[in-house]
Amino acid sequence: MEVYKFGGASVKDANGVKNLSTIVNQTKNKQLLIVISAMGRTTDALEKLTKAYFEGLDTVSEIFGSIRASHEAIADELFQDKDHPVFNDIANTFVEIEWILEDEPFDFDYIYDQIVSVGELLSTKIVSHYLNYAGIDNQWVDARNYIQTDNTYREGKVDWTKTSHLIESQLTALLQKKPVITQGFIGSTSENFTTTLGREGSDYSAAIFASCLKAGAVTIWKDVPGVLNADPKWFDQTELIPQLNYHDAIELAYYGATVIHPKTIKPLQNNSIPLHVRSFLNPQAEGTTISNTGKPLPIPSFIFKVDQVLISILPKDFSFIIEENLSHIFDILHKYKIKVNTMLNSALSFSISVDNDEEKITKLITALSVTYKVKYNKDMELVTIRYYNQQTIDRVTENKKVLLEVKSRHTCQMVMKDNN
Ligand code: ASP
Ligand code: MG
Repeated sequence: MEVYKFGGASVKDANGVKNLSTIVNQTKNKQLLIVISAMGRTTDALEKLTKAYFEGLDTVSEIFGSIRASHEAIADELFQDKDHPVFNDIANTFVEIEWILEDEPFDFDYIYDQIVSVGELLSTKIVSHYLNYAGIDNQWVDARNYIQTDNTYREGKVDWTKTSHLIESQLTALLQKKPVITQGFIGSTSENFTTTLGREGSDYSAAIFASCLKAGAVTIWKDVPGVLNADPKWFDQTELIPQLNYHDAIELAYYGATVIHPKTIKPLQNNSIPLHVRSFLNPQAEGTTISNTGKPLPIPSFIFKVDQVLISILPKDFSFIIEENLSHIFDILHKYKIKVNTMLNSALSFSISVDNDEEKITKLITALSVTYKVKYNKDMELVTIRYYNQQTIDRVTENKKVLLEVKSRHTCQMVMKDNN
């Protein structure tokens, strides 16, 4: 059996749903589990709705109305018969949010998951009905009956023992009968409360199902031709990487290549399940295959992160940075859940580059300033080059001033800004 994952961009409108149905129809392997994200930018909109509800803004009903209208419009375009059960299904799903919105808000993270998860419930219901309508008999299942997590809302940690037991014992038989449609991104606690796995977590869901089912392969259908050696947003000349090993894929995802969610690779690698990244706009093309190939990346790859803050931390009395300081600094970073994108240690200072999340960074700098002298520069860019050489370094640093550079054997990272 195989797992297909369709992201938000692939089902952003009625044509997207029709295209998905064509791709599924052309698949030879009929034992298929299809994991789907929320349509288009629905998750962002539901996030906005949750915030507005918490802040007691009067935009709540407007945001809610527009999310509802966009889903109804897609269904309208897909189903000629206005008595089709899909319309009832959509209405009932929205009722779940309405109930929450009528109450007083409490516990942001918990409420967030109960509201935001509805995006995936809606998209899968619409797609499942549409596939049936188009003659592709399928079964809609609720991912929350399978993916079991702890109660870390917005970042549920998967209970692998329970999850794999449920998936193996209940989904295997179903998949032999017909394709199964389910949601990415969502799971459930042991008390049956909905959790989410973290933004962009649908790839991870696909990997969880695949590893528990010992799938033959996972295909992530995207709006790019596969894994490229750089993001076309920053580079005009990019190249497709046809074959990639798990190790390089993890490194690229870790440094911020957004093509695959970083948590996705491990469950697949542990079970030697190949991961295909292919374009839903050009389904005939091969795309990229990530597998156990021994070969390293054939070409240097670039990952850009903008809006970085470069923070230098120095003991106030010019003493050396020692292990004790580092341990203290990391405790503070951990406390504010700050991910360090790169770091460098010298005798008198410790420097890090982090994403500019205003709220977190302000708290971090305040906390560090109690013990250390803290200097920082905003609006920095971080470039990571995997399999670098001097030529690639020269290329990205043209007209830039490099403030920090860290090199290992295969990876070079530079924090820089425009040279003016
Ligand atoms: N819909 C969720 C998000 O936008 C999960 C996903 O797309 O992977 O973050
Ligand atoms: Mg998405």
